[in-house]
Amino acid sequence: MDIEELPGVGATIAEKLREAGYASVEAIAAASSGEMMDIGLGESTAQKIIDAARTNLKMGFESGLDVLAKREQIGKLTTGSQELDNLFGGGIETQAITELFGKFGSGKTQIAHQLSITAQLPKEKGGLDAGAVYIDTENTFRPDRIQQMSKALELDPEEALSNIQVARAYNSDHQMLLAEKAAELMDEKKIGLVVVDSLTAHFRAEYTGRGTLANRQQKLNRHMHLLQRRLADLHNAAVIVTNQVMSRPDIMFGDPTSPIGGHVVGHHSTFRVYLRKGKATKRVAKLIDSPSMPDAECVFDISTDGVRDG
Ligand code: ADP
Ligand code: MG
Repeated sequence: MDIEELPGVGATIAEKLREAGYASVEAIAAASSGEMMDIGLGESTAQKIIDAARTNLKMGFESGLDVLAKREQIGKLTTGSQELDNLFGGGIETQAITELFGKFGSGKTQIAHQLSITAQLPKEKGGLDAGAVYIDTENTFRPDRIQQMSKALELDPEEALSNIQVARAYNSDHQMLLAEKAAELMDEKKIGLVVVDSLTAHFRAEYTGRGTLANRQQKLNRHMHLLQRRLADLHNAAVIVTNQVMSRPDIMFGDPTSPIGGHVVGHHSTFRVYLRKGKATKRVAKLIDSPSMPDAECVFDISTDGVRDG
């Protein structure tokens, strides 16, 4: 359905909406009236359009049974390490956003590569029996690494590569557009995993200065809304986002770093995992603020074969 078909959306408003990145009914349904007012719509118009979009997508109440049925569809994706899987209660969940954050070299991209392959495994082997979408913002997707890891799992490396749809995002707007494209792709193909590596790098680079911070957070919020509603929920997919840490000179004790994106990213992530280097190839993963799991730590390993127990 085109956004023009929503009551109250004429050509002028449609153009405004598209320019601001609300190119679909889903994107509008996920917006707040405040966001719409920021692009120049009146409050009542904004609310009317959002309500219409939500009604159209049947976003409202559903019975407890429907919620149960949907939750029963949640899949668990293996990371390649039993220990790491246990941290998540049996693997990375679908219908959720899992945030991997940590310093450069902590293993975020390696885990993202590994999951793009394990997603293709049959369910009895811890996979989702589906393909992956990889939004690469830092140009760190490596096909040869995929080949290497898939051989270790006795998968055909060519086939493994062909099941991963990769797109390079050049800036934050492009990244947001690619997430919309991913949603379209998922209507056609069986995709069980979406990776955004890195979620925040472009946003961080583009929005410096204090005055632009609110703007950045608002866009990040919209981006994550889309990842959750249209990719994770609507398509029963696991969404993995990676995030850098920034140093916090104000913190005197403990770990003087915190993830980029602050509350917006934290609020939208169902699982947040802090990764850090251990001895040699060992890595330590710590689960933080999970609604259903205890905060816990585990050690795993990154070898030539990929992610394994430590
Ligand atoms: P991040 O994305 O968190 O910055 P990466 O996931 O890129 O970090 O991790 C890089 C690390 O992964 C390297 O320092 C190395 O230890 C390990 N690594 C990368 N490629 C391989 C490989 N082919 N074999 C073994 N270890 C590798
Ligand atoms: Mg990386």
